[in-house]
Amino acid sequence: MFEKVLIANRGEVALRIHRACREMGIRTVAVHSEADANAMHVRLADEAVCIGPARSADSYLNKPAIISAALITGADAIHPGYGFLSENADFAEMVEKHGITFIGPTAEQMRLLGDKITARKAAIEAGLPVTPGSPALESIEHAKEWAHKIGYPVIIKAKDGGGGKGMKTAFSDDEIAEAYTMARAEAKAAFPSDVVYMEKYLQHPRHIEMQILADKYGNVVHLGERDCSIQRNHQKVIEECPSPALNQSQRKEIGDIVRNAIQKIGYQNAGTLEFMYEDGKFYFLEMNTRLQVEHPITEAVSGIDIVKEQIRIASGAALGYTQDDIQFRGHAIECRINAEDPETFAPCPGKITEWHAPGGLGIRVDSEIYSGYSIPPYYDSMIAKLIVHAKTRNAALMRLRRALEEFIIMGVKTTIPLHQEIISQNEFIDGQYNIHWLTEYMNKRQKQK
Ligand code: ADP
Repeated sequence: MFEKVLIANRGEVALRIHRACREMGIRTVAVHSEADANAMHVRLADEAVCIGPARSADSYLNKPAIISAALITGADAIHPGYGFLSENADFAEMVEKHGITFIGPTAEQMRLLGDKITARKAAIEAGLPVTPGSPALESIEHAKEWAHKIGYPVIIKAKDGGGGKGMKTAFSDDEIAEAYTMARAEAKAAFPSDVVYMEKYLQHPRHIEMQILADKYGNVVHLGERDCSIQRNHQKVIEECPSPALNQSQRKEIGDIVRNAIQKIGYQNAGTLEFMYEDGKFYFLEMNTRLQVEHPITEAVSGIDIVKEQIRIASGAALGYTQDDIQFRGHAIECRINAEDPETFAPCPGKITEWHAPGGLGIRVDSEIYSGYSIPPYYDSMIAKLIVHAKTRNAALMRLRRALEEFIIMGVKTTIPLHQEIISQNEFIDGQYNIHWLTEYMNKRQKQK
């Protein structure tokens, strides 16, 4: 087992990884930007190294600085968390070349699955159902041709896309030129490549994803699904596990398909296969080759610590259990709480003057915030994840309502009021929602004002 792990991230996920290491008797190295000198992940780690100025490009994305920090402190492994360099195959390769273990899949697997076009191809070969789609699009005319083959509506996506960026829908020939041009421009600004492709646009799907764990010896288990259909701008807001839309046999069916596919691909470490689910059918979207923000709801229901498993697998340990050993208990829901204006969604960095997190049975709060902490303006606006777990979905909803009421964050605006509003809507209470529900609800509400 590793003796020292460097955590190449910040915020709540850096703390999350530190906690897993601590419980495994592994020492931790935090890295931080100049703006994060007072951050909680820096305070808790055994050692800390400043890797550059505030801008992410100069610090948390600065590969040589991070690898130098690992070499200077003698870390055996690097955990990348999510975001930043977590899906950067070149970084994984550099880390390994320096004799340090990258906690994640191999660079080759990351390249295959990180590109949406090659990932779709691999998924088809491995027996996963996918949406009808095109190869890389070369021109507006080419896009039009494919839109006719697939049938409107279609969605044009960046092959290197992520975070909901670089995606544009078109409902007719009139919209295709703009969708193509905009998707390419957005891709060019945000990603290494501006190559785009097209998929059939599903009109009322749910977003359901499967968490898997795979060791280096071909053993694969799935830890059930997460329903992440409550979204704003293609970004997840609330997630729950299990999905209110699936029954036990549907779960087993997609679970078996996914396990087979992962075995065929030869993937190792933790990963998530994202699907659209519409009219009883699954369509593979993409695979995330890293820890997901919403992993705690799966941990609550499966009782498995996904970060510890990532570390164990990377160190060469076998899973040591089979699918039949995994039991799912109860229901879990996560709210992503952002320092944002809940009406306009404008980021709201600043000093936290008072902080009181909810507690009690079945409550987990993952956050880097403490009273007196100043949220820097340079990074993602998520400041806390509230996770509730209870025996039934109803009990989890009651617990979530209670926990949101108890949460006190003063000094900055947060999206807590928005969460309170969402969870009191009948569609949410009944579990009857799809990926468009939140946007439609917000638009309706706006009009009524
Ligand atoms: P990213 O990598 O940017 O997160 P994804 O491919 O995972 O992009 O898609 C993110 C979200 O965009 C999905 O959860 C869904 O809301 C929407 N989306 C993506 N593809 C489709 C599609 N073919 N039909 C309908 N919605 C889609």
